[in-house]
Amino acid sequence: MATAKLTFWGAAGQVTGSMHLLEAAGARVLLDAGLFQGRRAESAALNRNLPFDPRRIDAIVVSHAHIDHIGRLPLLVRHGYHGPIYATPASRDLTAVMLPDAAKIQEKDAEFLARRGKKGPESDPLYNLADAIAVQDLIVGLPYRRIHYLRKNLAFEYTDAGHILGSASVDLRVTEGGNHRIVFSGDIGRFGLPIIRDPDPPTGPIDTLIVESTYGNRDHEAISGAAQRLAEIVRRVAGRGGKVFIPAFALGRAQEMVYALHELYRAGLIPEIKMYVDSPLAVETTTVFRMHPEVFDRREQMLEHSDVILDFPLLRYIRAAEDSKRLNLQVGPAVIIAASGMVESGRILHHLAHGIGDPKNCVLFVGFQAEHTLGRRILEGARQVKIFGDLYDVRAEVESLQGYSAHADRKELRTWVKMLGGPIRRAFVVHGEAEPAAAMVGILKEEGVGEVVVPQMGQSFDL
Ligand SMILES: [Zn+2]
Repeated sequence: MATAKLTFWGAAGQVTGSMHLLEAAGARVLLDAGLFQGRRAESAALNRNLPFDPRRIDAIVVSHAHIDHIGRLPLLVRHGYHGPIYATPASRDLTAVMLPDAAKIQEKDAEFLARRGKKGPESDPLYNLADAIAVQDLIVGLPYRRIHYLRKNLAFEYTDAGHILGSASVDLRVTEGGNHRIVFSGDIGRFGLPIIRDPDPPTGPIDTLIVESTYGNRDHEAISGAAQRLAEIVRRVAGRGGKVFIPAFALGRAQEMVYALHELYRAGLIPEIKMYVDSPLAVETTTVFRMHPEVFDRREQMLEHSDVILDFPLLRYIRAAEDSKRLNLQVGPAVIIAASGMVESGRILHHLAHGIGDPKNCVLFVGFQAEHTLGRRILEGARQVKIFGDLYDVRAEVESLQGYSAHADRKELRTWVKMLGGPIRRAFVVHGEAEPAAAMVGILKEEGVGEVVVPQMGQSFDL
């Protein structure tokens, strides 16, 4: 009889919707419950149709608080899930701001569809604010490196994944019907990034590894090089009186960019110009950052400065919509950081509608732009783009800096695998499009992993 069974219900052959079902020691445990994102109709159907009865799940273990890893928690609760949801303390607090925001987006999307005359179950919101808040009652905070027993013969602990605040890898031990160790990487971060600590993976022999592969086939530029280029871009655009628009995820990238700009300002490498973080969600997540210096890198130094690290005199955080609109009327130079990171929604759209036609301005991408997003089209050189139904000429400069990515690149993924130590009996490659996943298979084979599989959606394996 097999010790355990694993079924892949998301992030299989793609980057979003992370969700894997582990059945072991008499328990059914979900690893992550993420939302599918990307093409609207396709992901809406995937999100709506749960492949199992949530009432029959015993526990949920989440790796980190990005929406593609937690965004279906309210849906599971809405459909009867009432067991514990484990998260690190920082992830727990981030979840408390991320999920209500996700619920508001669901409700707004539903209103939009209703206005277009699309009524019916397909246009109902996936969940509402009450569902998002109900999740919080079930969350159990568990710090890194503390063993927790889900059953007599099933335990797990978190280790730091180094990806965003509170992000974790999950190290599970099954001790029924033989010993079996399962490691789930979560999203793996970078080495040497500010604020967040470096990845600290579990070590020793592993029977089953579930590992992400977002950038399995690409190398990022060094962070030092990225800082230099960021300074150059800000100086150049400020010199001609323009604005730098930085589309950024409210959680992670926004804080890294503030930190980077603060450092450049202190070093005298950028001029004294106005800077704004224009996102209520970024304001909330920044508050959670300030609450958790215990997981910061270079702890002593950070603790001393934790109140000022994400604040400096030139920077303003903007919450109210009226203040955000006023920014559009203001003349440059300025730096404006606003969500969403892939320019699919949020205040960045208003800023670009006002400023993308002005050659003095610059749109600066600092994160992954998925296929079929407006960010990807601008990045690939579209001459005209549609924003809120109107066409705009793209005359602003377009730049991209990948040095601030929160994901390990090809080299760092290999470093992470080496740090596990091994031997690794079998690995499942998830959370990557086809090419990066195939590249990750190569890396794992070169590192001596016995068997490597890229699972398909819904595929089950006996462990
Ligand atoms: Zn992530």
